[in-house]
Amino acid sequence: MTYSTNLRTHTCGELRLSNIHDSVTLCGWVQRIRNLGGMTFIDLRDRYGVTQLAFNSETHPELHRQVQNFGREWVVQVTGIVAERYSKNRNIPTGDIEIIVETFKILNQAQTPPFTIEDESDGGEELRMKYRYLDLRRNPLKNNLLFRHQLSIEIRNYLNDIGFVEVETPFLIKSTPEGARDFVVPSRLTHGEFYALPQSPQSFKQLLMLGGYDRYFQIVKCFRDEDLRADRQPEFTQIDCEMSFVEQEDVLQTFEGLISHIFKKVKNIDIDHIERISYVDAMQLYGSDKPDTRFDMKFTALNDVLQHKDFKVFNEAELVVGIVAEGCANYTRKQLDELVDFVKRPQVGAGGLVYILCQEEGKFKSSIDKFYTQEDLKRVAEKCNAKVGDLILVMSGKTDAVRGQLSQLRLEMGSRLGLRQPGHYKMLWVVDFPLLEWDEESRRFYAKHHPFTAPKPEHEALLESNPGAVFANAYDLVINGNEIGGGSIRIYNSDLQKKMFTTLGFTEEEAQHQFGFLLNAFQYGTPPHGGIAFGFDRLCAVLSDSDSIRDFIAFPKNNAARDVMLDSPATISEVQLNELGIIIKK
Ligand code: ASP
Repeated sequence: MTYSTNLRTHTCGELRLSNIHDSVTLCGWVQRIRNLGGMTFIDLRDRYGVTQLAFNSETHPELHRQVQNFGREWVVQVTGIVAERYSKNRNIPTGDIEIIVETFKILNQAQTPPFTIEDESDGGEELRMKYRYLDLRRNPLKNNLLFRHQLSIEIRNYLNDIGFVEVETPFLIKSTPEGARDFVVPSRLTHGEFYALPQSPQSFKQLLMLGGYDRYFQIVKCFRDEDLRADRQPEFTQIDCEMSFVEQEDVLQTFEGLISHIFKKVKNIDIDHIERISYVDAMQLYGSDKPDTRFDMKFTALNDVLQHKDFKVFNEAELVVGIVAEGCANYTRKQLDELVDFVKRPQVGAGGLVYILCQEEGKFKSSIDKFYTQEDLKRVAEKCNAKVGDLILVMSGKTDAVRGQLSQLRLEMGSRLGLRQPGHYKMLWVVDFPLLEWDEESRRFYAKHHPFTAPKPEHEALLESNPGAVFANAYDLVINGNEIGGGSIRIYNSDLQKKMFTTLGFTEEEAQHQFGFLLNAFQYGTPPHGGIAFGFDRLCAVLSDSDSIRDFIAFPKNNAARDVMLDSPATISEVQLNELGIIIKK
């Protein structure tokens, strides 16, 4: 592979000792200038690396004089002879050589960048977002984007090899009331009508199955106008997939193959089997449907051993549940207080936390000593399998709430104890999700996954009589506590799909208005089908042990969904508004 062009013979990452005495031309950015009196050295950088340029005041006085005016990030072209360096730099592949420059050309000058273009920059995040094109020059971001590219190639190759075809689906579609809020685009041709940007290509991939494509995938942008929780983006990328004539097992096996391939190729890690856990078990054991299973610390329900004593808080709770932090019985008062503060933070929202220190055989110290005997606490320790030296942390309340809170504390303890090590991957399929979720506020059911997910065939009959008890053929892939993918076997019968819409509170007319195209399509020979979508940005981040998907997106938005580089969203002109028939409420 050669990267030579009319402007350069080599890249800045290419030259080695074997090139000594060659005459070469390089182009790049001035990374660093070091003036050592008689000699001036410049590090010239491009995507491929850095090469040292040497300017000697004795042999090339005029050149040496001119480069004194060079500034950081100037774009230059230099021609010179490759020479062996006296003091070699073992840290970079070009560290054995330098270029004795004979001529140079300034291709472009640059203003001094607002932050240093170094691996560790002095620029804050907002500033770097504003000048994203400069931030993209830094190695950490560059390597992330190169990694993302490599990953996308591996995914495409693997899926292509097993017969998946990539089909593009439209971005200007129709708003649907289910799921997250849509981004909408006003129509100029019909005032008062709007397109919506797809939250996912869900309907289209199902229609492609109807169209006979059998195996579809697409690495595709999706748009959701949600309030941005930490590390979400209003536009993000999915690896969207669908297959025909499959049952759940086929989908899980196929994508286990994809995940194994990815891990082998980019991490050299062998994965031969992905464990499975039911939704019900995940909630019971970890309080979360995306548990981080790099560490154990499972929940133990303690109602039977802690209720019916004098402690009112526990007696009134729906669930009393605990975890064991191994080896933490020596926690100081301060450390314990920190944990109490942690659960009381608004993000966690608990009322309090009870701790039991297992100090010596049969000897316990707890924050509930007033209400429980040593014998009571011993029973608790036995129930949770806590040993001498362990710390038991107990929370109580409404089942769903307390599970969520204890799950956050479990993750916190996992982090504190160094049990969530980077480079260590634990993945699992969470299966058997409930089909529906009851919302107390609107007093109606919502689809837990989406309204096209099929109920388990044996539960179909319950859809009318007891919808809350219906389970779905739906599955999520979880890696290290991150939901990386989710999908389901779909409904492929229009009657069942109509029944599902009715269960979700749609009138027949509403269902027809919103999803008529799908209901109609289902009457023209729909194959059984199912699929999955993976969050591509998140997958990149997780595989790189990063918490931030933003670092894997070339031009991301900030926490307020703004593109601070473009300064968008922004107002549009009166002319544009008029064309669209839009009046802005002041
Ligand atoms: N379209 C779904 C989603 O975006 C994934 C799927 O069911 O395949 O969550």
